[in-house]
Order: sequence, then C-alpha cells, then structure tokens
Amino acid sequence: MNLADLGWSPFFEKHFGELQDAALRPARVIEELKGFYRVRGTEGELLSEISGKIQHDAKTREDFPAVGDWVAIVPRPEENRARIERILPRKSKLARKAAGRAFDEQIVATNLDTVFIVSSLNRELNAKRIERYLALISESGARPVVLLNKADLCADPSPSVAEVSRIARETPIHLLSARGGSGLQAVQNYLLRGETSAFVGSSGVGKSTLINRLLAGSVGKQQRVQEVREEDDRGMHTTSSRQMFFLAGGGIVIDTPGMRELQLWQSETGVAEVFDDVLALAEHCKFRNCNHRGEPGCAVEAAILAGTLKAERLESYRKLQAELRFQERKADPQVAREDEDKWKRIHKEMRKKNRP
Ligand code: GDP
Ligand code: ZN
Repeated sequence: MNLADLGWSPFFEKHFGELQDAALRPARVIEELKGFYRVRGTEGELLSEISGKIQHDAKTREDFPAVGDWVAIVPRPEENRARIERILPRKSKLARKAAGRAFDEQIVATNLDTVFIVSSLNRELNAKRIERYLALISESGARPVVLLNKADLCADPSPSVAEVSRIARETPIHLLSARGGSGLQAVQNYLLRGETSAFVGSSGVGKSTLINRLLAGSVGKQQRVQEVREEDDRGMHTTSSRQMFFLAGGGIVIDTPGMRELQLWQSETGVAEVFDDVLALAEHCKFRNCNHRGEPGCAVEAAILAGTLKAERLESYRKLQAELRFQERKADPQVAREDEDKWKRIHKEMRKKNRP
C-alpha cells in the first residue's frame, strides 16, 4: 500500500517537506491504543510511542496524535516500532467537548474528507439531531453528506426528504437501503481513492450494516468490529478493534469508538441515556421544573445528601446540558444568517435532485 492509498496528498507533502529531516518518514495514525499509536506507512504497520518533546510540549488534547493524523516518524522496522516526532497540520478535525469538562476537547478523528450523517427512515426523523451533526461536521472542515437509510421500510420518503433538505440546505441527501443494497452506488461515489470518510448517527440506524456492505468487496473481508489480538515483542497482549478500514475501491473509512459516543452527546435523548440515574431521581422531585438547587422536596439533592448519588454526577449533568444549550444557540443564528432567496433556490434544487 502506497502513501496515496493511505490518504497522502500535496497538502501533507508540503508540510512534511518543510520539516527537512531525512531521518523522518510519513505515516498515518490508524489506531489509538493506551499510550501507543498504531501507524501505517511505507514500512507497514508499526506500534509507535510519542517523542518526549511532544509529551513535554503538549498543552491540550490537540497536541497529541489522533486517528487520521499524518505524523512524521522515526521507524525501527526491525522491532515493528516507531517514534512519532511530529504531527502534521490537520486538514479537518472532528471533535467535541468532553462531557463534564467543558473546555476539554475530545478529538474523534482527523483529516476526514467526508462525514456521512446516517439517519433511519423507519422511525420518526429527528431533524434537530441532524442539524447538530451538520453544525459539528461543518465546523470540522469535512464535507457532510446525509444518508437516509432503511428506504425499504418507508412507503413514501418524500416528506422526510423535504424536512431534511430544509435543514441540510446545500448538503447532499441520499436515500438508500444498506440491507437491501439499493442506493449504495451514491455512497460509493464519495469514497474515492485516498479519500477518508466516517459515518455518524444514532445507534440502530444501520451504520455497521452499511460499512460491512462497503467492506464486502474488500480484501480480507474484514468485519467492522473486528478484534485484533497480538503479542508485541515484550510478550504484552494488546486487544483492540480496527479503527481504519481500506475499501477495495481505494476509499478509507475511519470508525473510532469516539465516533459511536459522538451521538450520545448530541441530543437530549443522549443526555437521558447517559444520565438516567439523575433523571430517574428527578422524577421524584416535588416540582416538575425543579433545578435541584435548593428547592424544597428535591429528590436529587436528597440522594446526594444520603450518599446514593455523587455530587459530581449532578455537576456533569449540568455541564452537559449547558453545552447542549450552547450548541443550540450557536446553530440558530447560522440559520438566520442564510440569505432567504438562496435558501429557496437550494431547497428547490434539492427537491428536484432527490425526486426518484
Ligand atoms: P448501527 O447501530 O447504526 O451500526 O446499526 P446496525 O447496522 O447495527 O443496524 C441496526 C439494525 O437495522 C440491524 O438489525 C440491521 O439489519 C437493520 N438495518 C440496517 N440497514 C437496514 C436497511 O436498509 N433496511 C432494513 N430494513 N434494515 C436495516
Ligand atoms: Zn430536584
């Protein structure tokens, strides 16, 4: 596999060249392990540590490698090891703020060209959620594409398509059935050689089915959730799942655990899933709209006093809610700023484009 197949481009070539160090080789981070990174380059796959300098100079999460990064390494092929000396500038960065630590960023993946927002047509469409994903992806620098899956379960998808195109504006929308296989070509058209993609969306919408289908024609027929167990030279076992896939057609798919978690923090539903303990207690508060800040008959505060709920839980819950409110506020002026005429034109075009 050459560098171009891994996503190497003139952008990275330029930045790598500027390092002017003959000892360095370019490689891509394909997996993040505890304290280590699996990288792939012309020397194959190497387990890498980061240099003392990176470690020492790092101020935030951004200063550490993430899956998708292009890095400059000093390889030790005889050991199957390498040391990461530099992280090349990122073309795009999909990130979210970590729960409970509002200023701590969590990088989900970098250098993505396309991010597919997968939604299912067999249940009520959550337009607000798609909107949040769109905001996040636009911010990342990657190109968003909306996929409405399970078209086989929907007799008339046009109201859903219309609703999504109102939000998605210029973003392309495609109907498909990952299980049946229809509409896959439209997805495949984005998966160009050397381009990197990712799939986001709520659990159950069909992301695994879709990725496995795309992989079906690929070498080795890897499964999306594949456990890799190996022993390194110190006899240490590492178990992990693949986080980067290489499709037969040359496209690259990144699927990190963070990609799965992304959805949890993107909606009120997600908050409910993660903070079900707090919410269950809140049902017993005397007042329906209790803020759990000293109101009489507050079951949440009572639980904290009784020691059955940690005060930190309530604190993280509050922070996450505040973050969601912030995201919503941020999304709205964007919508408002859109030029009315342009919006109408695009909407019309979208409808035309999506007419079967
Ligand atoms: P994920 O959580 O997003 O990865 O979703 P999965 O790929 O695990 O799919 C969840 C369920 O939806 C599985 O039972 C799939 O077989 C089913 N599914 C996925 N795509 C389709 C589709 O296009 N049509 C139908 N009818 N079912 C689908
Ligand atoms: Zn309360």
